[in-house]
Amino acid sequence: MKLQGNMLKRNSMRFAAALLAALVNLAAGPNAALAAASQHHDQVPGFYRLKVGDLEVTALFDGFGVFGPHWLNGTKATMAGVLRALREHPHLLDVADAGFLVNTGKQLILVDAGAGTWWGGGAFGRLAGSLRSAGYTPEEVDIVLVTHLHSDHVGGLTTQDGKRVFPNADVYVAKAESDFWLSPEIAAKAPKDAQAFFQSAQAITAPYIKAGKWHPFSGSEPIVAGMQLVPLPGHTPGHTGYEFSSKGHKILFCGDIVHALRVQLQHPEVTTIFDVDQTAAVATRHQLLPKLAREDVLIAGPHMSFPALGRLYQEGSGYSWAPVVFTDQWDEK
Ligand SMILES: [Zn+2]
Ligand SMILES: [Zn+2]
Repeated sequence: MKLQGNMLKRNSMRFAAALLAALVNLAAGPNAALAAASQHHDQVPGFYRLKVGDLEVTALFDGFGVFGPHWLNGTKATMAGVLRALREHPHLLDVADAGFLVNTGKQLILVDAGAGTWWGGGAFGRLAGSLRSAGYTPEEVDIVLVTHLHSDHVGGLTTQDGKRVFPNADVYVAKAESDFWLSPEIAAKAPKDAQAFFQSAQAITAPYIKAGKWHPFSGSEPIVAGMQLVPLPGHTPGHTGYEFSSKGHKILFCGDIVHALRVQLQHPEVTTIFDVDQTAAVATRHQLLPKLAREDVLIAGPHMSFPALGRLYQEGSGYSWAPVVFTDQWDEK
C-alpha cells in the first residue's frame, strides 16, 4: 500500500510538472510550437501554364542565376549607376533560365531547352524534370525550336555523354546560327573567351545531326502552322524569335533580347559581352521593344523572372515589364 501511495504521489507530481510545462508553453504564446517545425527549402514543381487562344503554353523552369555586372556594356555613367543601384538592390541582376512548351493540340513544341549540364556549374538543368512535372515526357516532344545556340538555351538537348534528351524531336534553328557556331574556321578565329560556346554548340548538336534531326532553316519554309519566324540578329548571327498566333492572341518567344531586365529595359542601349554583334544587338532591341509595347503580345523571355512571361509597356524613355499574375482561370474574357 505504501508503495502504491508513493507511486500515486510520484504520478501526481509528474502530472503537475507536465501541466506546468504546458502552461509555460501557453504563456510563451502560440508561436512557440510553430518555431519548432523545421524549415523546408523545396519548391513546387517548376512550371506555369496559360492559354494563348487554343494553344497551351507551359513555362518550364531550368534554374536560377545572377547576371554579373561586368557582363554588361554601357556608358561610364550608366554603368556607374548600375553599380550604385546594385549596392542598394542586391537582387537587381537576378535572372532565371527557362524553356517553353507549346501544345498546339496536334504537336508538342519546345522552344529552347535550358542549360542542362553545359552551363552554370550545376545550377541549371531542371527543365526535363519540370516538363515531367507538367505532365509530359521528353519522348513526346515532336519539335524543338531553338532561338540561338548558346549553351544556356540548348544544353538541355543533350547529355554530357552525347545522348539526345528529346529522342523523337526534330530540332530547328536558323541556318546563319547553325553555320556560325558549327564552323571550325570561325571557331578557330574566335576570341579565347568564346571558345567554350563553340565547343558546347558542336557537342550538343552532334547527336541530332547524326540522327538526321537537325534542320537549319533559311526563313521561307513552313515549320509549324500559325507560327512566324522573327529574325532578331545581333546577340548571335542567327538569333530568332518565334511568334505563335491563335484566335487573335499572340505570344513571342524572344530569346536573349533582354538579359538584365531591370537595366536593359530602362537602357536598351546597354549590351552584354555575350552579344556577338553589339551594334546589331542594340538596333534589334530598339526596333523590337517599341513594337512589343504598342501591340498586345505576350512575351516569353527565358531570362525574365520565372515564369518568364509578361507584357511590355512604355515608361518614360524606357520600358516596364508586367509579369503574368498567377491564375488558374482558363476562360478568356
Ligand atoms: Zn544567349
Ligand atoms: Zn541566354
